[in-house]
Amino acid sequence: MNRATLIPMLISGAVTAAVTSAAWLLATTPALARDDATSDRDLAAARRASRDGNGDKSSEADNADESGNLLNLLFSIAEDQARKEGYVHRGITCNHCGTSPIRGLRYKCSNCVDFDLCETCEAQEVHQRTHVFLKIRIPIPPLANPRTALLNVFYPGNRSASDTLSWDKIRDLAHQTHFDQLEIEALYEQFKSLATSEHGIPKSVFEQSLGPLGLEKNLITDRIFAFFDADHDGHIAFPELVAGLSVLCKGTLDEKITCAFKGYDVDGDGRISHEELHAMFKAYFHLSMELVRDVVKAMEEEMMDQFNDEENKPVSAAFTAPIPAGGHQ
Ligand SMILES: [Zn+2]
Ligand SMILES: [Zn+2]
Repeated sequence: MNRATLIPMLISGAVTAAVTSAAWLLATTPALARDDATSDRDLAAARRASRDGNGDKSSEADNADESGNLLNLLFSIAEDQARKEGYVHRGITCNHCGTSPIRGLRYKCSNCVDFDLCETCEAQEVHQRTHVFLKIRIPIPPLANPRTALLNVFYPGNRSASDTLSWDKIRDLAHQTHFDQLEIEALYEQFKSLATSEHGIPKSVFEQSLGPLGLEKNLITDRIFAFFDADHDGHIAFPELVAGLSVLCKGTLDEKITCAFKGYDVDGDGRISHEELHAMFKAYFHLSMELVRDVVKAMEEEMMDQFNDEENKPVSAAFTAPIPAGGHQ
């Protein structure tokens, strides 16, 4: 790739201001103007030359060094961008700006049959916010993918994206909890992706968001939902979510102890009975079994795959851990 093609490509690709100025610097730097760079390798050599050139002028020391570093940085950005643009996703059009083919990174919606975005449009959040994108750097065959299985939408929330919190509400929540304004705003985005009703997150969605753990009825997940749903209306409203997470993630020891006690006190009579403790431990055991089930199965399969029984080895060869010291003398 020569510089004549590189620079227009950089400019046309709706690139960032930094890259545009890098291209401008490329065009105006004497060290480079002299260098007839015709390939990426030559560009790298030119970069070295410009760096060395700055080093020679020891009288202009610091300033020259700094601008040299900046130049190198901009150079790297421009090089990276140019390298990315080299990937052409032929036959793929950006569904937002219409660029065709998409160059550089391609973002393919995993929840829609045929929806792609270019890097620039993806950054602007133009698609349904609850959809998850696959990031594709190296082009995949265009006809190989359209009818692959679509992923289910991960978040069932249907609040509109424009629905935002008032400043007063954020300030109140920041006052009442351990979260600051930015954290509360981020939590609200997450809340919107799960809330399917105006009252908030219903129990069914809460269970769905627990993945495999939410599939079976379990006392622990019931108790966690009850913990969040402070007013017992069957929905977790946003203030309830923030208050609950504040205790779980950032709470003081006292707050956590109170919350744990209430969790175990299933009938709410102010004491934890033997039956309640037993029921909770049983539920916890089931939950932890469920948590490791997939992992254990995958590890078992991996171990069987790696096991090499071709040679005539003693059984002890399968145990690779060192023999512990001590024992009988
Ligand atoms: Zn686009
Ligand atoms: Zn989509």
